[in-house]
Amino acid sequence: GAYVAAIEAANASINAYVAVTSEQALEMAKASDARRASGQTGALEGIPLGIKDLYATEGVHTQACSHILDGFQPRYESTVTANLWADGAVMLGKLNMDEFAMGSSNESSYYGPVINPWRAEGSTADLVPGGSSGGSAAAVAANLCVAATATDTGGSIRQPAAFTGTVGIKPTYGRCSRWGIVAFASSLDQAGPITRDVRDAAIMLKSMASVDDKDTTSVDLPVPDYEASLGQSVKGLKIGIPREYRVEGMPAEIEALWQQGIAWLKDAGAEIVDIELPHTKYALPAYYIVAPAEASSNLARYDGVRYGLREQGRDITDMYEKTRAAGFGTEVKRRIMIGTYVLSAGYYDAYYLRAQKVRTLIKRDFETAFHDGIDAILTPATPSSAFGIADQEMAADPVKMYLNDIFTVTVNMAGLPGLSVPAGRCAKGLPLGLQLIGRPFEEETLFRTAHVIE
Ligand code: GLN
Repeated sequence: GAYVAAIEAANASINAYVAVTSEQALEMAKASDARRASGQTGALEGIPLGIKDLYATEGVHTQACSHILDGFQPRYESTVTANLWADGAVMLGKLNMDEFAMGSSNESSYYGPVINPWRAEGSTADLVPGGSSGGSAAAVAANLCVAATATDTGGSIRQPAAFTGTVGIKPTYGRCSRWGIVAFASSLDQAGPITRDVRDAAIMLKSMASVDDKDTTSVDLPVPDYEASLGQSVKGLKIGIPREYRVEGMPAEIEALWQQGIAWLKDAGAEIVDIELPHTKYALPAYYIVAPAEASSNLARYDGVRYGLREQGRDITDMYEKTRAAGFGTEVKRRIMIGTYVLSAGYYDAYYLRAQKVRTLIKRDFETAFHDGIDAILTPATPSSAFGIADQEMAADPVKMYLNDIFTVTVNMAGLPGLSVPAGRCAKGLPLGLQLIGRPFEEETLFRTAHVIE
C-alpha cells in the first residue's frame, strides 16, 4: 500500500512505471500475509518489486515499451518472474525502458523518457537514468520498489545502476532463463536485478536464477546461496586491472574512482595484478554488428498479425509495411536496417562473420586472464556520470550514445558475469560505479568483492 501511494505521488515526475498493477499487488500481498500467518514464508515473502516491461507477465501490460506491442497482455509468465512469485514477491507494476531494450539513456521508449531522481549539485536540469533498464534503476533509486528486474544485452543493467547509485548484476549467460523475456539479441541477453545494495542483489539473483526446459541455453548448475558469500574476506583474491580500459579521453574523476577502488581492495588484502585484454577495442564495433543482426531477426515476428498493433493496408505486404513503419521507433528501425545489411548476402562475411570471430578473440582474452589465476577484473562501469536529457551531440550522432557501452559490452560478448557497484561521486555530486567482471558462474566472487567496495 505504501509503495503504491509513493508511486502515485512520484511517478508523474520520474516516469519509471508504465503500468501500476495496484489490484494485483494488493491481492498478492494478501496471499503473502496468509502464507506468513500459516508459517510458510518464501525467500522474498511480501517484497514489492518492479518488473521491466520486457518480461512477460500474465494478463498484464507487456510491450517492451514499443508502440508495435500495443495492448499486448501475454497468457504466460516469464520463468524469472514466476520464480520470484514462487518465492513470495509482490508485483507493483511494469517499468519503463528503451524500446526493445535498445539504448543507453531510456529516451527511445514509446512512453517517453525516464528522469533520473538525481540532480547535479546546484542544477535543476533533468538527467537520464541510463538505459535500457532506466525505469528499473530510477524506481529503485527513488524508492518506488524494493528491487527491480532488469535485462542486460550490452550493459543495460550495469550502466543505469552506475548512473543512479544502485547495484546491478548481469549474471553469466545461461544463469537465468530467458524464456518469456522479449528477445533483443538472444546470444547476449541476460536477466538480472537492480537493487539498493549488494545483499539485495545476492538475494534477488538467487531467486531469479534457474535451469529451465523452455530455454535450452539455461544452465543446469546449482544456484549457490549468494548471500552467504557476503562478508567473506577477499584476502588473496587476484584482481586484474586491464590496461586497455584506460581509454583516451576518460575523465580524470573516473580514473580517480578506479584508483580508489584498487586501493580499497588492496587494503582488504586482495592482490592487484595488471592484465591485458588486447581485443577490447574491437568489442564495441563487433557488438554493434552482432546485436543488430540478432535483433533484426528477432523483430521479424512483429508483423501486425500475431501481436499488438495493426495498420490497415491494401494487401498483406502493405499491411506489414505500414504496421512496422508506424509501430517501431527510430532507434529500432536503425538497428533493423543495420542488422539486415550485415546479414545480407555479399556483406555477411565482411561484417557478421568477422564480428563473430572478433567475439571469439574477446572471449579468449578473458580466458587467458582467468587461466593465469585472475579471480575478478575491476574497471569503471561507465566513461562518465549521468548525462542530460535530449543531449544534442548524442541525438545528432548515435555513435556517441553507443560509446557509453564501451566498458560493458565486452562482458556480454564473452558471456561473463558483471556487476556494477556504486563507488563514489563525481565533482557535481552524481553517483559513479565500478564494474567487477568474474569467471563464468562465479557470481559469488563478485558479490563478495563488491561488498568490500560498497
Ligand atoms: N546500450 C546497448 C544497446 O543499445 C545495450 C542495450 C542492452 O543491454 N539492452 O544495444
